[in-house]
Amino acid sequence: MYKNIAVLGASGSIGRQTLDVIRRLNLNLVAISVHNNSKALKEIVDEFKPVKAVITGNAEPPSGIDVSYGKEGLIEIANMPEVEIIVVATNGIVGVYPTMEGLKNGKRVALANKETLVSFGPFIKPLMSKGELIPVDSEHSSAFQILKDLKKDEVKKLILTASGGPFRNWNIEDIRRAKPEDALKHPTWRMGRKITVDSATLMNKGLEVIEAHFLFDIPPDNIEVRIHPQSVIHAIVVLKDNSFKMHASIPDMRIPIQYAITYPERYETPIKEYDFGVLELLPVDTRKFPALDLAYKSLKLGGTYPAVMNASNEVAVYSFLEGKINFYGITEVVERVIEENPFGKAEKFEEYLEADKWARNRAKEIIEEWGR
Ligand code: NDP
Ligand code: MG
Repeated sequence: MYKNIAVLGASGSIGRQTLDVIRRLNLNLVAISVHNNSKALKEIVDEFKPVKAVITGNAEPPSGIDVSYGKEGLIEIANMPEVEIIVVATNGIVGVYPTMEGLKNGKRVALANKETLVSFGPFIKPLMSKGELIPVDSEHSSAFQILKDLKKDEVKKLILTASGGPFRNWNIEDIRRAKPEDALKHPTWRMGRKITVDSATLMNKGLEVIEAHFLFDIPPDNIEVRIHPQSVIHAIVVLKDNSFKMHASIPDMRIPIQYAITYPERYETPIKEYDFGVLELLPVDTRKFPALDLAYKSLKLGGTYPAVMNASNEVAVYSFLEGKINFYGITEVVERVIEENPFGKAEKFEEYLEADKWARNRAKEIIEEWGR
C-alpha cells in the first residue's frame, strides 16, 4: 500500500474524511492545501506535521512549515518525489492542474473534485494511461469496483443512482419557491454546500454522468440514472446477457476514499455493515429536475459545453444561496448560457479556461438583468 499522501482541500468535507482514513491506517500526510480556513490549516499542520502547505485563497500561513501559494503550489505538490498519492478534494476548476501534473508523473490521483473531469475530460483522458486515476465519488468508486473485473464487451450499460435530494416528493410549484435552507437539507449525505444544492437540482448526477463517460469510456446513451432514496446501491452495471452487478454500502464517503487510497487492497473500516431493508430504484422525473437533461445535452454537444455548463451552474448555485434567484432559476441560467456558448468544440486547453471564465461572467450578467 502507498503510504505517502497529499490531500488538496484538506479542510473540506472530503478532505477531513480523508484525514480520518490517514489517521486510522497510519499513513504519512506529506502535503496539504486549504483555501481560506486558517484554523483548520494550523490544526492539521500541528497534528500531522506535513512538510508542505499550499494556500489557494486567503488563509494565514502557519509557522514552521514550507508554504506555497495558488495553483503553482498545487502543481509543486504534484511534483514532490515523496508524494505517492494525491487526493484532489478542492472545490473549483483548479483541481485540474495537480490532477494533470500528478498523472503525467505516473502518480496515483484519487479524484473527488468534479470540475476536473467535467470541464477538462478530453485533456485528462490521454493522461489516464500514464498514472492511475482512481475515483473517490461513491458512484464512480462503485462503478470502478465493478468494471475492473469485467471485459469491455461484457458491459451493456452503467446505471448511477441518485438519492433524489430533499425535493424528491415536492411538487414543482413548491420546488420553485424552495429556500436555500430547504435545498441544503440532504436526506442521506453530509457534504459541502455547493454539492448539496447540486444534489437537490440533480445537477450533481448530471456532472457524475459526464465524469463517468470520461472515466470509463462509456457512451452517454449507455449511462442511466435511477432514483434510489436509500443511497445504499451506488452503481449498477448491466451486462450483455442482461444480468447485472451492483455495488453497495451504507452512505459514508470514508469507504470510497479509503478504497481509492488502498486499491487494489481492501481494509476494514469503522462503518457499520448494512442491515438489509427495502431498496427502491425509481425513474427520474426530468420535468421536475431539468438539470439532468441539460447535462446529457452538454455531454453530447461535447467540446467546451460541459465546462460552460459547470461554470454557469456554479455561479447560479451561489446566487440561489444568496437569495438572488429562485430554485429553477439555477437551471434556467445554465440553459441560456449553454445556448449562447461561443466556444463550441474548441480544442485548446486555454480555450476551455476562457470558456469557463466567459460562462461565469455571462451567468452573472443574466442574473443581474433578472434582478433589475
Ligand atoms: P467543501 O466545500 O467541504 O471543501 C472544499 C475544500 O477545498 C476545502 O478544503 C476548501 O478550503 C478548498 N477550496 C474551496 N474553494 C477552493 C478554491 N477555489 N480553490 C482551491 N481550494 C478550494 O467541499 P467538499 O469536500 O464537499 O467537495 C470537494 C470536491 O469534491 C468538490 O469538487 C465536490 O464536488 C467533490 N465531491 C464531494 C463529495 C462529498 O461527499 N462532499 C462527494 C463527491 C465529490 P477552505 O476550507 O480553506 O475554504
Ligand atoms: Mg456522488
